[in-house]
Amino acid sequence: MDYQFESIILSGIDPARPLVIAGPCSAETEEQVLSTARAIASCGIRIFRAGIWKPRTKPGGFEGVGAVGLNWLKQVKRETGMYTSIEVATREHVFAALKAGIDILWIGARTAVNPFAVQDIADALNGMDIPVLVKNPVNPDIELWIGAIERVYRAGIRRIGAVHRGFSSYDNKGYRNAPHWQLPIELRRRIPNLPIFCDPSHIAGKRELIHELSQQAMDLKFDGLLIETHCSPDNAWSDAQQQITPEQLAQLLSALVIRDMDRPSKDLAELRSKIDGIDEQLLSLLSIRMQVAVEIGLYKKANNMPILQSTRYGQIIEQKSTMAKSMNLNPEFIRDIMQAIHEESIRQQMKVINN
Ligand code: PEP
Ligand code: MN
Repeated sequence: MDYQFESIILSGIDPARPLVIAGPCSAETEEQVLSTARAIASCGIRIFRAGIWKPRTKPGGFEGVGAVGLNWLKQVKRETGMYTSIEVATREHVFAALKAGIDILWIGARTAVNPFAVQDIADALNGMDIPVLVKNPVNPDIELWIGAIERVYRAGIRRIGAVHRGFSSYDNKGYRNAPHWQLPIELRRRIPNLPIFCDPSHIAGKRELIHELSQQAMDLKFDGLLIETHCSPDNAWSDAQQQITPEQLAQLLSALVIRDMDRPSKDLAELRSKIDGIDEQLLSLLSIRMQVAVEIGLYKKANNMPILQSTRYGQIIEQKSTMAKSMNLNPEFIRDIMQAIHEESIRQQMKVINN
């Protein structure tokens, strides 16, 4: 699909990276919304966020203040001049948000997984002109993410952004939602002109990781950051552990290193060609390894042996992890690679054994 996006940068906003959206996970009270907004505005932030309808994993938790929060956001806009943004999950949310003059809408991760829900929202948006951010679906499925973006685009929305908020996987490796950076990187490859925001708060789940995730996002050339910020994070009614104060936000932003140099240099070209050469060697070694795996498959077939010998597999993984350590390689990374190679060898052997 050939996307013709329009700029998501609203008038009066500095186009320099990162474009920052900040505010509490949830609007809780008028006082909390306004005091957070005042402090955020005084850090120079121009876009405020607050959830008023909250998707919660289990019933009985705080499900948001609902439409009354729209009045508080109107007040934020009047008083601070900031643009306002909220999550919409149904067509009714869209209509209420448009009526209240909300400036930016986002589709949450739990909604982005459901094509019916996304289509409903897209239908409600049809013919409107408002920026819409599409968060990644909770599961690491790039096609589903692109599908949601496409539904919004087909409704005529031209100011679209994607938000990377991490993915829920069996092993989240210390994050609330594992970043799987390769997915937003692939999204950028597939839709190069689509602005991408990172939401380090929902990736991290705890405030200690937010700075390093924001820096990583900047180093990967993300366009913006969406950071949950609360005047009193520990007392927040939702996502307390991942929210930071406006002061911490200001500190984090001023400490970010933005590397924007895109000038080709001879040194870099040389290093890249070195990498290309190494990759070629890796591929040719892999090809040789697969040929040997196939020979082993033929041997097993001739001798009526099963394909998987689990002790052998355990040995391979163990030996290579130990070897990795002595070679200054991350053993977990090598384990993942060896698992992938082994899986492919098994697939190849299955083919020969059943032929
Ligand atoms: C949020 O931004 O508050 C939110 C609910 O996020 P997500 O949809 O990414 O879980
Ligand atoms: Mn939240």
